[in-house]
Amino acid sequence: MANDEPIYKFEGLKSLLRSMGYRLDKAVGYKPLKIEDVDINDIRKNIKFSDKGIFLIDQTDDQERQIFLYKRNYHLARYGKPRFHIRKCQTIQDFINSGTFKSEYRRANTEPVLVKDMDSNMREVEVRNLPLCKYCMNMALGEYSRSMTSADFVKILQQADDSYEKAPDNIEVDILGYTKDWAEISLAYRELHEYTCEKCGLRITNPFDQLFMQTHHRNGNKTDNRQSNLQCLCIRCHASIDDRHKANFARGGNRATLENFNTKYPRE
Ligand SMILES: [Zn+2]
Ligand SMILES: [Zn+2]
Ligand SMILES: [Zn+2]
Repeated sequence: MANDEPIYKFEGLKSLLRSMGYRLDKAVGYKPLKIEDVDINDIRKNIKFSDKGIFLIDQTDDQERQIFLYKRNYHLARYGKPRFHIRKCQTIQDFINSGTFKSEYRRANTEPVLVKDMDSNMREVEVRNLPLCKYCMNMALGEYSRSMTSADFVKILQQADDSYEKAPDNIEVDILGYTKDWAEISLAYRELHEYTCEKCGLRITNPFDQLFMQTHHRNGNKTDNRQSNLQCLCIRCHASIDDRHKANFARGGNRATLENFNTKYPRE
């Protein structure tokens, strides 16, 4: 498991959360991407295929953005426009299987696209309204109209955006400074670690005592919910992790819960 991604990117966690009734399919904002050549290395490293589409893992902001693929070089005069692909169809699978390291495809999420015209000295030509690959059409049957062009597809991608370029300081936080989805994330994280403290190894099996297991933000930033920043800790380890926590657990409800825990689960 990669360790520095937002927590809802982990398939296991996502399905766990869904099974608990949470909706986590957050639309990632649309961002126009520069058209780039795609070779097999890119496909292995930066491109993800799923039954929902083809996604670029954008290294600049760690988001997955939906894209389409099309042939870079084409006989535009002789054969018309290349088709665009939105799934790992037979044609794309054949390209991957061919093992060629040439960049035969390009990826894009904008309109128009650029094609090197083999009928005019490989000149870069702007092309609009690519037709959809027939294999892809069948794989995505019912999701899109059969006559959907690349221009229509780009419009669909743009409209799916409801959080376009959300700035970090726009994250909605609750009164204590936690993000609104913190309760779900924290619960999922503790479930994932089976209520076992990452410091002392204590495991809590009694469901009524699971509140004693807490999710800590390693860097202190309560809006930084990347998995690498989280730690599942028993309340005793959590309360003594630094001076700020010690002060926090020395009073009020926190202190009472800690004392309750120390009685039930005395230090070995
Ligand atoms: Zn296709
Ligand atoms: Zn903490
Ligand atoms: Zn512990």
